[in-house]
Amino acid sequence: MKSMERAVRLLDRYAILVCLFAGLLAGALGVAGARTITLASASADLDRYATTLRARAEAINGETENALAAANLVKGIACGSSDLGHLRKIAFNARYIKDVGRITDGKLGCSSLLGILSPPFAIPPPDLTTGDGYQLWLQAGMLLTDKRALAVRTRNAGVMMDPSAYLDLVQQPFRYSVALVNSQSGRVLRSWGERLVGDSVLIARKDVSVDTGDDLMRITCSKDLFICTVAALSRGEAMAEHSVFIYGFGALGFLLGGLLSWIGFLLHRRPKPLTARLKHALQSNQLTLVFQPIVDLRSGRMVSAEALVRWVDHEGHAIPPDVFVSAAEENGTAGEITAYVVRHVVHIAGPLLRDHRELVITVNIVAADLSDPNFYAVLEQTFDASGIAREQIGLELTERSVARPDIAVSAIARLRALGHPVYLDDFGTGYSSLAYLQDLNVDVIKLDRAFTNSVGTGSVTVSIVPQILEMATALGLRVVVEGIETDTQYSYFASAPNHCHGQGWVISRPLSYDRLVSFKAEH
Ligand code: C2E
Ligand code: MG
Ligand code: MG
Repeated sequence: MKSMERAVRLLDRYAILVCLFAGLLAGALGVAGARTITLASASADLDRYATTLRARAEAINGETENALAAANLVKGIACGSSDLGHLRKIAFNARYIKDVGRITDGKLGCSSLLGILSPPFAIPPPDLTTGDGYQLWLQAGMLLTDKRALAVRTRNAGVMMDPSAYLDLVQQPFRYSVALVNSQSGRVLRSWGERLVGDSVLIARKDVSVDTGDDLMRITCSKDLFICTVAALSRGEAMAEHSVFIYGFGALGFLLGGLLSWIGFLLHRRPKPLTARLKHALQSNQLTLVFQPIVDLRSGRMVSAEALVRWVDHEGHAIPPDVFVSAAEENGTAGEITAYVVRHVVHIAGPLLRDHRELVITVNIVAADLSDPNFYAVLEQTFDASGIAREQIGLELTERSVARPDIAVSAIARLRALGHPVYLDDFGTGYSSLAYLQDLNVDVIKLDRAFTNSVGTGSVTVSIVPQILEMATALGLRVVVEGIETDTQYSYFASAPNHCHGQGWVISRPLSYDRLVSFKAEH
């Protein structure tokens, strides 16, 4: 508990630094979160790009097959005008084919782009012939330009692929590579785009996602075709593209973290209600006890002491007991103070009480205790193992707290039956009637210090004092005089016909337990 409070105080002192740190932490978390979100969204974008790339490769392949199938249906005479028109129509309708040609006896006789070739062009031997009879020229020269393209032939027709068939797929920040792979011969035949992975990766023909640290990649290879596609995205570029989002998120985190911890500090520093602070003080044993000696005014011998509670909160303010006790009474939690004081008195003053069997310590209780089963339970538990006689713990009730006779009379009887002497505190301030005093049947009245103060002043109040003392004798009540501050007041009550006890500053201020022990030894 103590170390917890120390930590809270330390946090309080360095509030600004703590807020700054919390802001930085939240900012860093914000950046990390935004990077994760960015990476996840970049990865989803890359998947979409890879799908487009694969779809393009398959479309080119499908278009090639269809064009060749259509071109192999010769219209009339090979390279006649209707045949040439037929070839041109096929080329015109295809998106990724540059030229469609008619081949007879190993020679190109005409094509959609070149028209009739005279003499026919002798075709070099193919680079590869597939199992299903397609001949492939991987870098066929285009007759009208110096560009090279993939050419495919089957039977009497051949097509030349558009060398820029993939070019429109260049979309920053993505990069691509499409490769023709012959896994049987273990060769990459030809590729388009950038070289993004090593040949061995392509030859393995596996569908994989790769994170190289610099790049995210998706590699897919079509099952029945030779084609593999590689889509890539640079991490750095993806992050740079979203840097506003990432650092914006970080800044937001910083502001939010700092702001929330600042609000936390303000809330924490906002004064909490007295009763809430009192509850905490009770739980963490922050309340202490002092003891004010009560002496026999004739002999000066100490006969008892009153336990008085003290509370210094952790800002160092002493809060007067009558203030917090009445706040707790209004709040219905004053019983917790009584329980606390009873337990602590027995614990602290136990040795002195066991050494002096005639000594009494009085505890102030409140009206609510009288009808609170917990109060009786606390008395029960505390005394059983303490070795202290119940007669040694007196209970002080103010006149105000015995205002309800239906509760007070039986409760006082019950406490007295248990063995506790009962004191009526601040007597005279509540003007209880004589008859009522008789019914209450307490052991002692504590004459309020208002009467003590009037002694020697000639005020009217002092004239009531002898009557009160007389009444006390008549009812068999003992008297403790409160608030004796002067020698005049002391000698007045010391020479009164009643054998009075008294407490007050002229005798002693409330003392710590150790000083009470010394006081007892001296008196
Ligand atoms: P109280 O029970 O009448 O206690 C006597 C009060 O008078 C104490 O004030 C004491 O310090 C003060 N006093 C003693 N001698 C003199 C004196 O010569 N001159 C003057 N002017 N004052 C003197 P304290 O300790 O401030 O307590 C005030 C009241 O708070 C108590 O009045 C009592 O009603 C309540 N209180 C104190 N401790 C407890 C407690 O443990 N439980 C409950 N329920 N109430 C308590
Ligand atoms: Mg008292
Ligand atoms: Mg009093």
